[in-house]
Amino acid sequence: SKNEDHQRGTGLARPGKVKEVTSLTNPIVKDLRSLAMKKYRDQQGVFLAEGLKLVIDALDLGWIIKTLVYSKAGKGNSPVEQVAARTIAKGGDVLEVSEKVISAITRRDNPQMVVGVFEQKFQSLAAIKPLGSDVYVALDRVRDPGNLGTIIRTADAVGAKGIILIGDTTDPFSLETVRATMGSVFAMPLVRASEAEFLSWRKSFSGLIVGTHLKGAVDYRTIPYANKPVILVMGNEQQGLPDQLASTCDKLARIPQEGRADSLNLAIATGVMLFEIRRDALKLDSGV
Ligand code: SAM
Repeated sequence: SKNEDHQRGTGLARPGKVKEVTSLTNPIVKDLRSLAMKKYRDQQGVFLAEGLKLVIDALDLGWIIKTLVYSKAGKGNSPVEQVAARTIAKGGDVLEVSEKVISAITRRDNPQMVVGVFEQKFQSLAAIKPLGSDVYVALDRVRDPGNLGTIIRTADAVGAKGIILIGDTTDPFSLETVRATMGSVFAMPLVRASEAEFLSWRKSFSGLIVGTHLKGAVDYRTIPYANKPVILVMGNEQQGLPDQLASTCDKLARIPQEGRADSLNLAIATGVMLFEIRRDALKLDSGV
């Protein structure tokens, strides 16, 4: 019915069917283009992932696809047709569009051939119960989409178990963040929490909470991270960690620096910390 179509958000006449669209003014295309804005992503609870490999990875990891969009160049391409068949089998819609349309949806000059619209997914903080040597990254009000995407990718690469987004952060499901994660957004559990929620959850956590702070007194390489769950807490790009969060940490670590810069970029600092925390766990032959 019309009502159902409206609820699905794409306005498609018959869900689970391939539809051809070439006009930028088509309402389905307008709807998909609106997903570049957080307001509409949140309203519909979805986000865009670009590229065939990413879409296949997401489907393999059980993410729910609402719509698959592919450009005419993908027609007759067997991996693309397989993904289209999987989408339809799962009750999603498939749109065959012109390159111009994909370019408009993803706001790119040289767009990927395939774009997937997926349901957003967050885990609840209450469900996070770190065990063993689990590592989580908690980010205080992270602002920059590139930083967040890079951190998600790096956290995935070191085998961290998830990312806790504290306070008002940039959207992990924005085009820019998802792009920067290179697919890791589908592998890394994401949690949202207010500062108060995090502080209260922290009371039931018995592992090690390490904050990073430019005024930290401890060299990050001197902390024993092994054999316990670790939460790494990183500060906001402009302001660093607020006092409440800093004082809840068991240790405040600092990465020694030389030169003119008075701090490291947030994503770089997170990477340096994560590789130190996971120093003993990571082995060349256990990975890629
Ligand atoms: N003006 C901010 C301040 O005074 O904290 C700078 C924040 S820095 C760009 C962003 C975050 O990266 C910091 O809150 C901290 O978590 C981390 N960071 C950057 N450089 C660091 C260093 N040398 N040691 C420890 N953490 C660092």
